[in-house]
Amino acid sequence: MANYPEKRLRRLRYNPIVRDLVRETILTKNDLIYPLFVAPGENFRKEISSMPNVYQLSIDNIVKECKELVSLGIKAIILFGIPEHKDEVGSDAYSENGIIQKAIRAIKSKVKNLLIITDVCLCEYTSHGHCGILKGEEILNDETVSLLVKEAVSHAKAGADLIAPSDMMDGRILEIRKGLDENGFKNIPIMSYAVKYASGYYGPFREAAESTPAFGDRKSHQMDVANSLEALREAESDISEGADIIMVKPAGAYLDIIKSVKDKYQMPTAAYQVSGEYSMIKAAGKLGWIDEERVMMESLIAIKRAGADIILTYFAKDVAKYLDRK
Ligand SMILES: [Zn+2]
Repeated sequence: MANYPEKRLRRLRYNPIVRDLVRETILTKNDLIYPLFVAPGENFRKEISSMPNVYQLSIDNIVKECKELVSLGIKAIILFGIPEHKDEVGSDAYSENGIIQKAIRAIKSKVKNLLIITDVCLCEYTSHGHCGILKGEEILNDETVSLLVKEAVSHAKAGADLIAPSDMMDGRILEIRKGLDENGFKNIPIMSYAVKYASGYYGPFREAAESTPAFGDRKSHQMDVANSLEALREAESDISEGADIIMVKPAGAYLDIIKSVKDKYQMPTAAYQVSGEYSMIKAAGKLGWIDEERVMMESLIAIKRAGADIILTYFAKDVAKYLDRK
């Protein structure tokens, strides 16, 4: 191979059309999933103070929002619920008339061509804010898994298109797959939050989903931020249990993890650009310290370049508008 002066890497950078021809990573609307927070009540709309332009919405407003998303060309949402009543065992999570079940039915009856993904965990529904059933301060794994199965099946019965367990209990993918199959939902895919870290970047989400634990933290089930080989073991176990798509969360600070999971398993891979990632870009943009739109696109292209096929992001609407302008 020739070297300088014969070889000149800048040749492909002078002309913008050539740059377009050789670009390796292209972000499209098809890559995006938009998270929505469903709240009780009617005509309710409350901005989350730490997440500008992100709202808790009552079901009627969620339906309006979904229509807008479809018109923008966004094809998939993921729902998080804020129930009216919380209890020790998170009953609303698997009730036929739970907030998510009602929201799914409302959206399905009024909006076409939108994929409804549901987050499956208990922390938004328990009075103590933990992801499972407690015995003292311990989160019981297997008892929690049986409730997650009920939750997943009830989402599917309400009309969910894809189930996304985020709880990080051991064995839940296997049991949820079994539960879905036994109830006639063998074609509903599972996107598992396979590699989910105990991250400080979730701060603003806790406000949005009202799911801050009453004591302690999530370090007994979510992963230590210092570990990467463990990420492969987590991904491998969820794949062997039947996950169709595996997710890494958060995204921006974990590009190495996305890449190693994608390289090793070659599975459809999702990454969640979490609330803290969104809020930091928004805040710095507001202060005029960075060009918000440019950094938004750069952060998402980097996540895709690392190996994510699918990105969950609060920027989905902004990206759709940006792409329409280009
Ligand atoms: Zn949880």
